[in-house]
Amino acid sequence: MIPLRHLTILGSTGTIGVNTLDVVARHPDRFHVVALTANNNSRKMLEQCRRFQPRYAVMLEAASAEWLQTEIRAAGLATEVLSGIESLERVASLPDVDTVMAAIVGAAGIRPTFAAAGAGKKVLLANKETLVMAGRIFMDVVKQNHATLLPIDSEHNAILQSLPQNFSGDLGISGVRRILLTASGGPFRQLSLNALEDVTPGQACAHPNWVMGQKISVDSATMMNKGLEVIEAHWLFDAAPEQIQVVIHPQSIIHSMVEYVDGSVLAQLGNPDMRTPIAHALGFPERIEAGVTPLDMFKVARLDFEAPDSSRFPCLGLAYQALAVGGSAPAILNAANEVAVESFLKCRMPFTAIPAMIEETMQTVRHKDIATLKDVLAADSMAREAAHEWLACLA
Ligand code: NAD
Ligand code: MG
Repeated sequence: MIPLRHLTILGSTGTIGVNTLDVVARHPDRFHVVALTANNNSRKMLEQCRRFQPRYAVMLEAASAEWLQTEIRAAGLATEVLSGIESLERVASLPDVDTVMAAIVGAAGIRPTFAAAGAGKKVLLANKETLVMAGRIFMDVVKQNHATLLPIDSEHNAILQSLPQNFSGDLGISGVRRILLTASGGPFRQLSLNALEDVTPGQACAHPNWVMGQKISVDSATMMNKGLEVIEAHWLFDAAPEQIQVVIHPQSIIHSMVEYVDGSVLAQLGNPDMRTPIAHALGFPERIEAGVTPLDMFKVARLDFEAPDSSRFPCLGLAYQALAVGGSAPAILNAANEVAVESFLKCRMPFTAIPAMIEETMQTVRHKDIATLKDVLAADSMAREAAHEWLACLA
């Protein structure tokens, strides 16, 4: 049996955080929660503190931390409440924590995720934006500090499960020809370009197969999520862009596939439930119970596949473009996408303006080489500024 693991969960109040705690609660003898973190949802954090009694609870916002502190005292809990980005970094790198779930959404997750890797932790990576923004330097930090990186994204977790157990990091040596990255196609898979102009945030967030946070739901609707995942797969598995093929698979039963040179294709299947990849990574290399409904093949009955449509979903092509350019281009893409998604969610621009804003920002902001996290954060701020300027001109 695996030894008791000591966990920090970054973004514990989000969809991935809540699913992680669900799996953890099924194994009180295997996992001990040391720290939980959130942005400003202090009510949910209080609930989680009552249930899991962590040593630390970190709220990014000071006002939320203050409220939480009062409630924690009133409840007679021993949890220490902290706030601010430095505290997020601190709990991601505590000496007695061995495993960190990196599940903050967006670029906001990059500093604590780097802190966890820098401290040599077992990093369960949901925050794909860290790899998109800073792939090479993040992978270097992981290697230099002997951290372990396990993907939580269902596709990348499926790829890991379909690769040989002793995968060395070299696809060629393992006889892998291609990675087949599956995508549901999102809620607008069958909508015409004209109809896409009028879709609402509510419709974009209603994913047919998965319940997820708002940002990744919109990313799924534009297919930028798959674009980010292509970049993520490139860094995780050292796969050339032409070795990564996106396959639309509307049922989300196959979570991705690996094609070998002898013609074999290995896939990982299961009901679309994030507790499967979370449990896989938490227990790795053991298998642990996740609470997931077993897959009923007779109910599934059929699996469909189709090619992505780049004219209706240009974000996927933009991500391949950023990957080809390299340097700060993926960080610029990611920042412009975050501003675009937020602007769409606040009804400041239509859905179809999302790719337009990203493309324009990628053209306006000059890409550069990236050597440090500071370079990445500078590219991120410049791109955000340019995207906001573009929006101001649109109004
Ligand atoms: P979510 O919006 O449900 O939760 C985000 C969490 O991050 C919350 O706990 C929130 O408090 C915290 N947070 C938000 N902004 C923050 C900030 N500025 N500073 C500190 N904390 C902040 O998001 P989610 O759907 O759980 O996604 C989390 C990450 O996992 C994303 O990177 C997403 O791409 C990835 N992911 C999610 C799914 C899924 O099924 N939800 C699947 C694959 C990958
Ligand atoms: Mg995914």
